[in-house]
Amino acid sequence: MNAARFALRGIAKSYPGRGNGGVAALAGIDLDLPEGRVTALTGRSGAGKSTLARIVMGFIRADNGSVRYRGRPLEEAPQRQFRRDNQMVFQNPLLACDPLFSVARVIAEPLRAQRLAHDGGETLAVMEEMELPPALLGRRPAELSGGELQRVALARALVLRPGFLVLDEPFSALDDLTALRLVRLLKAACRRRRLGALFISHHRRHIRELADNEAVLERGRLIAAPA
Ligand code: ADP
Repeated sequence: MNAARFALRGIAKSYPGRGNGGVAALAGIDLDLPEGRVTALTGRSGAGKSTLARIVMGFIRADNGSVRYRGRPLEEAPQRQFRRDNQMVFQNPLLACDPLFSVARVIAEPLRAQRLAHDGGETLAVMEEMELPPALLGRRPAELSGGELQRVALARALVLRPGFLVLDEPFSALDDLTALRLVRLLKAACRRRRLGALFISHHRRHIRELADNEAVLERGRLIAAPA
């Protein structure tokens, strides 16, 4: 049994709107996300998956309940270290890319933001891991295919050597073949790096390939918890 990196207990979250109580996005979620394991999170659109992902990343706070990160309250985790060790990848890779930056700069940006020394070697290493040829270093995001762009976003998420990824439908905008290739690249990276992840997806095949276990959300409640 792997230790939980994230332990969520009684998580509830509502957004303002529709009546007095607002929109209940999550109601009483208990979920453990183990170290070094990929947990898939599925459920219909509007079930609360992205809300859960944002709470895990500390982007938004739950109204009720607690998130423990490596045994301590998430709010107490040192921000800079947390941002380094836990990375988010979105469906739209452009969210992680400044359109004016070159690929080299996009991928190295987290190193700069963390004020870590870098000489380009780290960038080339993660590009190779994501099967991106060095010839792309000088391109702008707009000059890449959707698959290349998402591989750049994954390389950027890996460059700080995090221990955990939160992936919010990272392959949903890609064609089947491209998506499957990325799933396999990501799976290899997770194995090699002993990475844990929360993987939001609708795609059975991707979940089968990548995930060690699965949680299913329906209207803000877990109807199937990971084994
Ligand atoms: P999923 O990722 O499963 O599609 P979300 O977490 O995005 O679900 O949304 C869950 C519910 O919360 C939906 O009813 C959605 O409309 C609502 N919601 C999500 N984000 C916001 C927001 N920023 N403001 C208001 N309502 C929101």
